[in-house]
Amino acid sequence: MRLLLVEDERRMAQALCEILRLEKYDVDHCADGLEGLYAIETGAYDLIILDVMLPHKNGFEIVKEARKKGIKTPILMLTAKGELDGKVTGLDCGADDYLTKPFMTKELLARLRALGRRTINTADGALTFGDIALNTDASTLVCGENSVRLSEKEFRILEYLIANQGQILTREQLAVKIWGYESDAEYNNVEVYMSFARKKLNFVKAKTEIKAVRGIGYELRYDHV
Ligand code: CA
Repeated sequence: MRLLLVEDERRMAQALCEILRLEKYDVDHCADGLEGLYAIETGAYDLIILDVMLPHKNGFEIVKEARKKGIKTPILMLTAKGELDGKVTGLDCGADDYLTKPFMTKELLARLRALGRRTINTADGALTFGDIALNTDASTLVCGENSVRLSEKEFRILEYLIANQGQILTREQLAVKIWGYESDAEYNNVEVYMSFARKKLNFVKAKTEIKAVRGIGYELRYDHV
């Protein structure tokens, strides 16, 4: 699960990154409000932890702007003690949850797990579209009786496409999502991994296809006869 931490206090951010990575979150960090908003707007993240007091743009403004642009990613806000209205304002702006500093790590992780579950669209942790399902625990693609193991990147690509079904995802969105905000992944990496993912779809004899939309990007299609 890809998580963005927007927090300008260096020691706090370092400690959180360490804890979150131990918990197997794929963490990116921004220390600036504007940079944070830009990263959120890429739509590349599954979860966001957002501090309120940040340079250039505060957390409340960030949530408000991101929601206005249609970003639905769950956001947990960190409010400092004394920012009494912080909780109310945060939730009003469109944050999903808040935590007051200082907090217990255990508490933070529990809240994140709860928010993370919202991004997965079925109760048993399987993501489904058309005739395919992704099994998160075993990293496999399933179609009827057939299944095949996926590499980490293939899994993430299919997961991202399924989570955004009905939408065309641009190569840029895919590159950022799979390789990260800071990476120099070339667009042709996306093409290479798309062809791997298509081979896996063929292997399980899925009718679901990854369609390239010329000049725009990719989408999942299931045209059953
Ligand atoms: Ca701060």
